Amino acid sequence: MLHHAGARPRTPGRGRRASVVLVAGACVALATACGGTRSQAAASPTSGGLSVSYEAPARGGGAERDFLREHRPAEKVAEDVGGALRLRKAIAIVGRSCEKGDVPEYDPETRRIVLCYSYVAEVRSMFERAHDPDPAGRTAGVLTETLYHEVAHALVDTLGLAPTGREEDVADQFAAYRLIPRGPEGRAAVLAAADNYAQYARESRPEDVDLGAEHPPDAARAANYRCYLYGASEAEGSDGDASSDDDLVDGTVLTEERASLCEGEYGALRRGWDGLLGPYRRG
Ligand SMILES: [Zn+2]
Repeated sequence: MLHHAGARPRTPGRGRRASVVLVAGACVALATACGGTRSQAAASPTSGGLSVSYEAPARGGGAERDFLREHRPAEKVAEDVGGALRLRKAIAIVGRSCEKGDVPEYDPETRRIVLCYSYVAEVRSMFERAHDPDPAGRTAGVLTETLYHEVAHALVDTLGLAPTGREEDVADQFAAYRLIPRGPEGRAAVLAAADNYAQYARESRPEDVDLGAEHPPDAARAANYRCYLYGASEAEGSDGDASSDDDLVDGTVLTEERASLCEGEYGALRRGWDGLLGPYRRG
């Protein structure tokens, strides 16, 4: 259930450390998970809801923890999902220093989503390397999408959902499902993720692409996200933002041929997640 594949080494990394020291961090009160100061309890949650905490960085990582606290992608995702759904079990999002090469991951044994400080730095450095005019904002967007992806794994696990597609595809679709309807900021996060995947794809060697891997190739994930954005705009009638919608169909990441299917794909993913989550929706 690692988030990224492609150019990165795959490091399962589950259960690397038996003991975890958590500092008092952000705690998003949703359902019943967050009572009082976060502590060891966040590493093995026992009650329903989503919590967010940050471990003290090991070496380096202080800037990345500050970045997460400032931009609050984890808190925003926890607030959104916890506010929309009745969750049976506690799910902890934990920012921490990981070993080199670690990527975001949901661990069903501990029901923890680990967001490594090194991953924050990696994404930001990629946008800086690409001379992106807003590396901080774009990094926050990717982190938000990443967390929705991991939360989707957590929902499948803790709610016992049964998606019929490859879970990695379905998890990406969940990110689009939650982000795209939220307006410009949500759409920008999805586009940042698409661009980040496209950059991973460009920087990969052909022999690094594993078509049989758990995740689809990075280039496919980039195309999918652009497709969902384009499909949503088509479904909404492209009111006033037609030029940027057309930019999504660049002929390279997203082709005209695929784009013609995107409205249908976006509608299908919305119906799919509506159906999966219907029994757990608040209100
Ligand atoms: Zn995944």
